[in-house]
Amino acid sequence: MKLLKKWVLLLLAGLLLSLTACGREAPPPPEGTIPVTVSFGAMEKLTKAIGGSAVSITVMVPDGTEPHDFEPRAEDMVKLSRSCLFVYNGMGMEHWAEKAIRGAASPGLITVDASARVAPILLTDEEEREEHGAYDPHTWLGLSEAKEEARAIRDGLIAASPKDRDLFMKNYEDFADRIDRLEEKYRGSLERAPRHELVTGHAAFGYLARDFGLTQESVEDAFATGEPPARKLIELIEFCKVHHVKTIFTEETMDPALARTLAAEAGARAETLSTMEESGDESYLATMEDNLSKLDQAMNE
Ligand SMILES: [Zn+2]
Repeated sequence: MKLLKKWVLLLLAGLLLSLTACGREAPPPPEGTIPVTVSFGAMEKLTKAIGGSAVSITVMVPDGTEPHDFEPRAEDMVKLSRSCLFVYNGMGMEHWAEKAIRGAASPGLITVDASARVAPILLTDEEEREEHGAYDPHTWLGLSEAKEEARAIRDGLIAASPKDRDLFMKNYEDFADRIDRLEEKYRGSLERAPRHELVTGHAAFGYLARDFGLTQESVEDAFATGEPPARKLIELIEFCKVHHVKTIFTEETMDPALARTLAAEAGARAETLSTMEESGDESYLATMEDNLSKLDQAMNE
C-alpha cells in the first residue's frame, strides 16, 4: 500500500513537471517555440507569415481530407491540448472546431476564430447552403479578408506569448504591406480584363470574385464526390460557350481526366487554382501570386 502511494506521488510529480504555461503533458516544442495547432493549410500559411520562426505549427486536418468533411479524433484533441494557441478559419469552415476545443479541455488554450471580423457572403444556392451553411466560408482566398485574418492571428499570438509582441507586430506590418501591393496587382489585372467569368470546380473564390468584380460559376463539389450530375455539366458547358470562357479552373484534388473532358466539351482548357485547403511549404503570398498569374491569363485571353 505504501509503495503504491509512493508511485502515485511520483506519477503526480512527473505530471506536474511536464505541465507548461499553456498545454498539459506537453513534450517541449523545438527550442522554446510556441506550440500552435491550426485547422488546415491556409491557416498554417497565415500563422507562419506572422509567427515566423517563433512558432511550431501542427496542422489538424490531414492531407487528402476535405477540411469541410473532417471529424476530429481523440488523438487530435490530445495534440490540441498541448498547444498554446488554436487557429481556425471560422465562418462555418470547421463545423467541428467547437467540439475539438471542448475535447481538448485545456483552460490555457487561446483560440482564434480568424474570420470573425470579415464581412461575410451570404450563400443563396440551396445545395451550397447544405454543404457549407449560411455563409461562404472561403474567406482566406480574398486578399483584404486574409489581411484581416492575419491581424486576428497576430493578436492571438501576442496573447499567447506577450514577450514576442514586437516580432509579431513587425511580421504583420510586412505581411499587410505585401498584401496591399498584391491587391493592386490583382486589381490592375482583373478589373481591366475583358473577361469576368470565373469558372471553377469548387466554389471557393467567392470573396476574390466579390473584391475584383468577377462572376463565379461552378459545379460545387460535384467533382469532389465522384461523377458530377449530367444536368450540372450541361449547364456549365452552356455557360462557358455563351460567355466564351477559355479556362476552367479546378482544384488540386480534382480528377484530372474529368477536368480535361469537361474542358474539351466546353472548348476550353483546364487549369488549377490553389484553394490552400491542404498543407504545403509555399507561402500564402507566393500561392496567391501563382493564382494571379493563372487568373490573369484566363481573364485576358
Ligand atoms: Zn472549400
